[in-house]
Amino acid sequence: MSLLIKAAATTRQLIHKAPALQQQVRHLNLLEFQSKDLLQKYGVAIQQFKVLDNSSTDTQVVNSFDCPEYVVKAQILAGGRGKGIFDNGFKGGVHITSNKNDVLALSKKMIGNRLITKQTPKTGILVNKVMVARSVNITRETYVCILLDREHNGPVLIASPAGGMDIEAVAEETPEKLLTVPLDIDKPIPEDKLIQVAKFLEFKGDAIKRCADEIQKLYTLFKSVDAVQIEINPLAETDTGEVISVDAKLNFDDNAQFRQKEIFAMDVTEEESDPREVEASKYNLNYVAMDGNIGCLVNGAGLAMATMDIIKLNGGEPANFLDVGGGVNEQQVAKAFEILTSDPKVKGILVNVFGGIVNCATIANGIVAASKKLKLNVPLVVRLEGTNVNQAREILKNSGLPIQTASDLDDAAHKAVASL
Ligand code: ADP
Ligand code: MG
Repeated sequence: MSLLIKAAATTRQLIHKAPALQQQVRHLNLLEFQSKDLLQKYGVAIQQFKVLDNSSTDTQVVNSFDCPEYVVKAQILAGGRGKGIFDNGFKGGVHITSNKNDVLALSKKMIGNRLITKQTPKTGILVNKVMVARSVNITRETYVCILLDREHNGPVLIASPAGGMDIEAVAEETPEKLLTVPLDIDKPIPEDKLIQVAKFLEFKGDAIKRCADEIQKLYTLFKSVDAVQIEINPLAETDTGEVISVDAKLNFDDNAQFRQKEIFAMDVTEEESDPREVEASKYNLNYVAMDGNIGCLVNGAGLAMATMDIIKLNGGEPANFLDVGGGVNEQQVAKAFEILTSDPKVKGILVNVFGGIVNCATIANGIVAASKKLKLNVPLVVRLEGTNVNQAREILKNSGLPIQTASDLDDAAHKAVASL
């Protein structure tokens, strides 16, 4: 799920400048070619494409697909593929070639190998499928994203003429190149607003109207499929003046599963994302990978963010977050611990739980059971507060385990950083 959070957080950050981890909800993710299928259904301009999966039909597929030039793209649930590198040393998850024979050769170098990008775990993500698309001559790359935003209590459109690249960097270095437009969920986007956005994206002449139409179609799609985010990066202008969605990333509202059965049936999260997230989600836990060395077990996204801030304030860096949410049982806590400690980067663990719905004694029992079972050999700092906290403290004390308890959040973070 970290990819989802990062994706959502990326755009959220643009609006709120809030740290990552804003959104801890699990959202369905689709591979690019699946997203493009949906875009096409709603009349959004995309390039023709085929999908290869290293099966015997690949040759036939490529042979019957005539293009002057092809773009070959690894399909994983992460961006930054163009600049990515495979674990076999092969460079780039996006290649352009005009030679049909090269298409198959390129896809063979990708499929079955792990692609490492800025957005994947350090070990990369296994590529099972490759998309081959008709290449277009891109003259300009812009950025368009529609997402549900809490602050605006509804959808917002984020647009930037500086597309193709890292949008976080754009937000950081040239915030004037970002436009945020709140949208009305009950109505199409007014034409004048669309024109304003298209002009902000620096489209000229006939391309203004074309761009406006594309964005409107994207908005119709957004609402019809219960998306929480549609990110098009780049929305490209071609040398023939076309406006085309070249890369698309869609996330959906999990609560809409009952009316979006077809879309949810396409879920590929199992195969193409961080295995720890997948494992965590099986137990209804949220896992977020970070770069530091303190493993964190928390309940709730707000507490996760506060924990991250206070660890950093104390000079440390979180390695990950495992959010056990509300109504958690002992077995889930134990599983959470297992996932947290499976990361060799983790040199210490901080448990920070505020028991409201969660019973602190349940957490304590889970911690003790897991520590014994896993023969935990990294320092463990625990801060519990709220429901049944006294009983929980007794359980920890009587466990005989070298657990450091902390009185408050600051104390906890301080001890966790000091314990390394
Ligand atoms: P990612 O964001 O994962 O790196 P993209 O699909 O955005 O993947 O591709 C990276 C870059 O490759 C694009 O920004 C664009 O410059 C180029 N590119 C992608 N598809 C095409 C295409 N069909 N024709 C020409 N260039 C392309
Ligand atoms: Mg892209």
